[in-house]
Amino acid sequence: MKKNIALKVRIYPNKQQKIMIDKTFGCNRYMYNHLLAMYNETGKVENYTKIYNEDNKWLLESDTSSYANTRLNLKKAIDNHYKNPSHFGLPIYKSKHSKKQSFTTSVTNNNSRVIDNKHIRLPKVGILNAKVHRMFSSDYKLKSVTISRESDYKYYASLLYEYEIESVEDQTDKPFTFMVGIDYSQDYFGVLSNGRFISYPKYLINNMEKLILLQEKLSRCTPYSNNWYKRKKDLARLHIKIRNQRKDFINKLVKEMSDSFDIVAVENLNLQEMSKNNHLGKKIYDNSFGMFITKLSYKLEQGGKRLIKVDKYYPSSKRCSNCGNIKKGLKLSDRTYTCNCGNIMDRDYNASLNIAMEGLRLLREETI
Ligand SMILES: [Zn+2]
Repeated sequence: MKKNIALKVRIYPNKQQKIMIDKTFGCNRYMYNHLLAMYNETGKVENYTKIYNEDNKWLLESDTSSYANTRLNLKKAIDNHYKNPSHFGLPIYKSKHSKKQSFTTSVTNNNSRVIDNKHIRLPKVGILNAKVHRMFSSDYKLKSVTISRESDYKYYASLLYEYEIESVEDQTDKPFTFMVGIDYSQDYFGVLSNGRFISYPKYLINNMEKLILLQEKLSRCTPYSNNWYKRKKDLARLHIKIRNQRKDFINKLVKEMSDSFDIVAVENLNLQEMSKNNHLGKKIYDNSFGMFITKLSYKLEQGGKRLIKVDKYYPSSKRCSNCGNIKKGLKLSDRTYTCNCGNIMDRDYNASLNIAMEGLRLLREETI
């Protein structure tokens, strides 16, 4: 089975390379807008070569392989709109004033490649300085590179790799040694059935508090004043910092979990529903847990391991992990689970044990 994995790294283009990259952003914007204009007239997404004419020969000076991807992106945006119009509007023209710019180049004949952990080669741009924090073995094939400039005016490359894994069917007879259940907790990031309570890192909490403060300060500034612009810039920077720190925290946790366990059981939660949660801390971090589960599932699968999803209606919180009794009147505010059998334990820890047991039951059912 073929799988994809993406790695986003910082790149450091020199002056000339910056000019070339910015120009390629412009060319792809031009392509996108002209294809969209044509679509609005004819109802068809034309081939990008139809855009070429005498007046825009400069289009050929940039990496032309990126145009096919830009066309594909437009097509996807249009398809998304017709599939789900209430969620996706019709595509709009791209502005050169937009702070975020990007283009994607497909790899053919090794024309784009990661040379080492400090250098990436791109067609027309040449060899770029980069910080590649993870190198893949030669089994991973580089498929495409997306170059972007973010709202902080820094440049990034997203490397998309393809790799082959054994299919799940081949793996069912492997013995699973280490299993753990994880409960999505209100007070913690998560609670494991081995008794570990995973907290949010302090630096992340500190920055989130800073973010709220900054937002308040911004709201008190006169719009478009010097101070307002300054605060806006600070805010954008902090947003990116938090995003990176969160990613880093999740990546480390995923690595640790997938190294330590063969099977992880988790509740099949509806993350959209959860984001309606009023608890402030949880609201802020909500998508972190979803991101964590997605990445963990990926990583486990890659190593021939498994993530098992327990039905969200399974009463993991209400059930006593010791005797199996179901407690009817359990409230969200009850942080300790007490049962007539004498079992007294943390509510989330109790739930994580139930999730682990239910996961094991599902796995047995599957393998019989
Ligand atoms: Zn009990």
